Amino acid sequence: MGLLALGTALDWPEARKRAQQVREWGILQLLEIWNKAKGKERDALLWGDEVEYLVVLYEKEGSKVLLSLRQAEILDALACDAELAKKGGCTAEGQDAELKQTQSQPVPVFHPEFGRFMLEATPGKPWGIGFKELLGVEPDMKLRRRIAKEHMLPTEYPITLTTFPRIGSPGQFTFPEYPISGPRLRSQFVPDEIANPHIRFPTLAANIRSRRGRKVQVNVPVFHDKNTPKPWKDPTVDFDLHQWPEDDDVRNGAAPDDHIHMDAMAFGMGSCCLQITFQAKNITEGRQMYDQLSPLGPIMLALTAATPVYKGFLANTDVRWNQISNAVDCRTPEEMGEKPLKNDRWRIPKSRYASNSTYIAEDARLRPEYLDPDLVFDPEIKQTLMDGGMDDLLATHFAHLFIRDPIVIFAEDLEELDLKKTDHFENIQSTNWQHMRFKPPPADNSIGWRVEFRSMEIQITDFENAAFSVFMVLVTRAILSFDLNFYVPIKRVDENMERAHALDGVLREKFYFRKNPFPARPSRANTVFGDDSRPGSAMPSRPASPGLVEDEYEEMTVNEIINGSMDGEFPGLVPIVESYLDSVNVDVETRCELATYLDLISKRSSGELDTTARWMRNFIAAHPNYKQDSVVDEKITHDLVGAAIAIGERENEGRNFAGLGIPGLPKLLGNFRGGCGGGDENGAVAGVDGSPSETRKRKSDWIEDGSGAS
Ligand code: ADP
Ligand code: MG
Ligand code: MG
Ligand code: MG
Repeated sequence: MGLLALGTALDWPEARKRAQQVREWGILQLLEIWNKAKGKERDALLWGDEVEYLVVLYEKEGSKVLLSLRQAEILDALACDAELAKKGGCTAEGQDAELKQTQSQPVPVFHPEFGRFMLEATPGKPWGIGFKELLGVEPDMKLRRRIAKEHMLPTEYPITLTTFPRIGSPGQFTFPEYPISGPRLRSQFVPDEIANPHIRFPTLAANIRSRRGRKVQVNVPVFHDKNTPKPWKDPTVDFDLHQWPEDDDVRNGAAPDDHIHMDAMAFGMGSCCLQITFQAKNITEGRQMYDQLSPLGPIMLALTAATPVYKGFLANTDVRWNQISNAVDCRTPEEMGEKPLKNDRWRIPKSRYASNSTYIAEDARLRPEYLDPDLVFDPEIKQTLMDGGMDDLLATHFAHLFIRDPIVIFAEDLEELDLKKTDHFENIQSTNWQHMRFKPPPADNSIGWRVEFRSMEIQITDFENAAFSVFMVLVTRAILSFDLNFYVPIKRVDENMERAHALDGVLREKFYFRKNPFPARPSRANTVFGDDSRPGSAMPSRPASPGLVEDEYEEMTVNEIINGSMDGEFPGLVPIVESYLDSVNVDVETRCELATYLDLISKRSSGELDTTARWMRNFIAAHPNYKQDSVVDEKITHDLVGAAIAIGERENEGRNFAGLGIPGLPKLLGNFRGGCGGGDENGAVAGVDGSPSETRKRKSDWIEDGSGAS
């Protein structure tokens, strides 16, 4: 999480009165950073990942698995570990940054998260630009899992499922157990104690609810199996609860038929994801990365799909995104367009957790048609930023983020404006949870402009998490190196985000994607007919007329986007990455290891391997307790979590999965643990060249050798 201040948190009626002050001070702080850092140059191409874990209490012999609410105790145990302290420490607050800098392999950092059953871990220091460093990611992720486990009870495990399948189900699902329907969340399904007790988190949940004027509504379409009633009514909803005014919500239609109904922030923010932050060399490059990675967000969401179960029922969607979006949607009925605007300033089409709505690069390729003409932004804030010297595009971006109210305000912070801090700016910035985040340098300017890629779902193994992280790093390098252009209208990115939710969307859906990502080459026509581009002329060739925006993109499958289209029209991201690797100096061993990652990405896209969501669905369907009625009971959950634990343990021991007897595993992970040069227990060898199909176009067909690769 971005910001963990301490102090007296204001309840919503008070916070609302101070919202404008926070916005104004936040904008002044932003201008201060911007003026100080806009000319920052030559920052290193660093990057870092974030892995989030659920902590479960599990015994193999049992029939029930519980969420462990011991986040604070586990973080304490990590902080108190003398061996780790000697190496610079392992918790965000307790670490010795200077000591860590001196370590060649600094120990990882653990962070609290919203759910009291969650942990987050990041590398001890960001990764550098070297290719060899990419091979350090997976061992580091395994080390994090090992260290986390060592500071837990013998029956506690860190697992990387996106969501706990039975969070909010009737009966006990946490340890310790607490009564539901507490004053902060007022949830029918989860206790207030489900959230991190740090005042920021319950206040966030309570103030979102107050601002909305009702509880959050997270309704996920149920998956209709053979024996699932139609219509299906969520049997866990209690229509006769009369403890809080909000208990009326379900009587007023909050829980529609055929939907799994959830009513608290924990159902969304209790999900685990995989995020990657990149540092750019300067602000221009950062803005370019932000724009170019934006259209990839929904594609990577679909490809990492891992969330088919909610509250003990199979859902008809595969990913977590919209559930988080709904779980923190603080919009009022006026803002949502349910009532005429009277007290609020504008209608807002999206939750503050949503796909991003603007592009920000100062890039000649960014056509005005790609932007949303109806984008909501605060014109006064935009003017303040522009008066302060910021350009129109970036001012629009921040003026859009600043249509939101700050939700958690600490009284102490409002006494005096401190322009050497960024707390008020970060208050709004870090509660705009968009799928990309443009992160300005901190107030002390010690690090550079960063861009965070936030859409991916966490995977069960560290192998997969490393694969997706490294893939995104390589794609980003290829974007910069080949000057790739993935622009499509931002509204198409929104549509893609919706499509990414579909069950098996990775195989069944099509996504709007740009047909030609390469920079224009001077065309023959220009050379022959254009009088300003004769060979030897100092004049640049005339740019081709831009043509219709609609002709620039088409609907493609994830397979086409990742592996390339059969007709060779679209090269595919994996082949582009391979070309990039061809163009730089990578030793054979590194190249081979990277190929195992690219192979996973490629095969998940083609359907040769299953997504995590598909594997879970198959696992559940094959379980003796499953009655084809969409119900994922305690025993199924126990065994599913048990499988995730067993896979993780084997992986951490460096062993293969032989003898585990987990259904569907070969189709989830293939032969990737075979590594380079050898085979796995199935005798399969991971190829060096992960190219999916010989019939597809190769790099030389679309990029001239040495075209700007660096
Ligand atoms: P947040 O939760 O706000 O996104 P975190 O601190 O949890 O932030 O994670 C940020 C990630 O960025 C970590 O992986 C960290 O290693 C990485 N990181 C830190 N400094 C830099 C930097 N200068 N450039 C790129 N990445 C960085
Ligand atoms: Mg996090
Ligand atoms: Mg984080
Ligand atoms: Mg993050």
